[in-house]
Amino acid sequence: MGLIIRSSSIHAAGCYTTAPIRRGTRIVEYTGPIIDKDEGDIRYEGKPITYLFGIGDGTRVIDGHGTAMFINHSCDANCETEEVDGRVWITAIRNIAAGEELCYDYCLYDGEEDAPCNCGARKCRGSMFSPEELRRRKRQTQSAAVTKKKKVAPAKKQKSADTKRAPARGKKIVARRQQPAKKQRSGSGR
Ligand SMILES: [Zn+2]
Repeated sequence: MGLIIRSSSIHAAGCYTTAPIRRGTRIVEYTGPIIDKDEGDIRYEGKPITYLFGIGDGTRVIDGHGTAMFINHSCDANCETEEVDGRVWITAIRNIAAGEELCYDYCLYDGEEDAPCNCGARKCRGSMFSPEELRRRKRQTQSAAVTKKKKVAPAKKQKSADTKRAPARGKKIVARRQQPAKKQRSGSGR
């Protein structure tokens, strides 16, 4: 199967297939050195873009290096990621035609910056953060607003609240699959 990297309308460069891919195919592994999440935070402090991919319970990350790190996010993706024995694979969740750009839902869950989405899907949620993370942030903003009303003390922009909840500071953005790894679907599907 031929994968090529070229410019993408979603973001900078993207990963395209030159041959058709059947649903359920493990296309490419998300490769790179595995490091502690804390080390990743230090390594990429202040960098707007990282290619860290959380694995296991999230205390370790793959520091993306290779073809898979170029795969862009989409809210209406043709791939998903699955973790098998500590290795992460990009797997087709539908049949993909030759020439299509590969993409999966990043479901970001960490990072202080916004991560606006440009995927162009009809049901684009406008952000690369996971729906759960977006709900959590909304709740946080709401409760911060309530606190502001009650207190007269100088409001310090929810920064402190943020660091309390978030496991790590830094500007790290870690992409991670939202669902636990699935068994490969066989035969009949949705
Ligand atoms: Zn989107």
